[in-house]
Amino acid sequence: MTIAPLHEVEPGLRQCIHCGMCLEACPTYQITRLETESPRGRIHLMLNMLEGGPTSDTTRLHLDRCLACRACEVVCPSGVPYGHLIEAARTVIATETRPRRGWLSGRLRRLALGVLADPPSLARAALILGLYQRLGVRSLLHATGATRLLPRGLRRLEALYPPFGRPRYRAPSPPPAPRARVALLLGCVMRVAYGDVHTAAARILARQGIAVIDAPAQTCCGALHAHAGEREDARALARRNIAAFDEADVDWVVVDAAGCGAQLKGYGALLADDDAWRERAVAFAAKVRDVNEYLAEIAGERLGRLDLRATYQDPCHLAHAQGIRKQPRDLLSRVHGLELLEMADADVCCGSAGSYNITQPEYADRLLARKVDAILATGANAVISANPGCMLQIEAGLRARGSRIEVLHVVEVLDRAIS
Ligand code: SF4
Ligand code: SF4
Repeated sequence: MTIAPLHEVEPGLRQCIHCGMCLEACPTYQITRLETESPRGRIHLMLNMLEGGPTSDTTRLHLDRCLACRACEVVCPSGVPYGHLIEAARTVIATETRPRRGWLSGRLRRLALGVLADPPSLARAALILGLYQRLGVRSLLHATGATRLLPRGLRRLEALYPPFGRPRYRAPSPPPAPRARVALLLGCVMRVAYGDVHTAAARILARQGIAVIDAPAQTCCGALHAHAGEREDARALARRNIAAFDEADVDWVVVDAAGCGAQLKGYGALLADDDAWRERAVAFAAKVRDVNEYLAEIAGERLGRLDLRATYQDPCHLAHAQGIRKQPRDLLSRVHGLELLEMADADVCCGSAGSYNITQPEYADRLLARKVDAILATGANAVISANPGCMLQIEAGLRARGSRIEVLHVVEVLDRAIS
């Protein structure tokens, strides 16, 4: 019963021909050179789970250390759907470990995932965290060096503290005769921490003649729930979002967070065994567009002017999961005055990966150090990305090195250029 999710993906597991072509693409293999930290090794461990008894602590550790970045999928000649495999394995592990979790850790996990899924609770949590910053407690802790006294996990959370002081999302007025109607996914962390990025995205869309319609019942995309192995929660959120966006009756659902976009595009697969929702989920997923993908299609050839020496970092869930690499670069090349300097290994994970930078701090730090080195080597004065998790992680890495390089979302750059 527990391993049913792995049985569902067994054909995908058996698709692996053990060729090893994925090894060098895998960030955890790159830093450890261990077979058990490679996609091929992890598939082998999943097959062992399928064939014999409860998961060992060692197997769990190697699977937990997977970033779910899906770099391995892109290079696999056999089409192994690795993203589905790791999610199924994590669902099994979450089910097995649920009874063994301490009362407090179980409650905290449920609370955190529950808050993300409930916009009013999230707004209250953001208000409290915003006070921590506005009342000067954060500055005081940093000025006195007291953050060094925090336990390691809390210290990491503190360093990755989202920018709660940024302006909230404000929808622009619709253009008089819109070319299309779209709804913007507001999400969870993006909604409370990067409202101004949503505003920038919506403003650019409006300038291109697109009406941005409100979808008030929308909620968190469920990506963090799925990655944590809480598949039923992720499915419940998918149903809520499909109903919310169907209600808004739009041509496209536009997403400016790469991880959320990949999750929304996967709703068809997530609800494939749900007779009541399968068809709606497939139709919904076909309407989802990443904001880079959509703007590259509809925007004009010139997108304003901005004097900036910038480098672009590919979010894993944009480059690997959605195959979107060319469009953000293409959009940035339409900005007059912007010099784009390619960094080395731009599409290798920065170590953010959902909650990975909190649960696997050692590996996350090693990947972040490599990313920061690559950014600094370009000599750019801004780094551009398209996912809030990457932006937070890179910002924390740059500040820890004393760098003042600006971290921006693609739509912020375009909005500045056009404005
Ligand atoms: S590239 Fe694909 S088939 Fe080859 S070892 Fe990796 S997962 Fe298996
Ligand atoms: S998803 Fe990323 S970290 Fe995990 S096995 Fe594939 S390449 Fe490695």
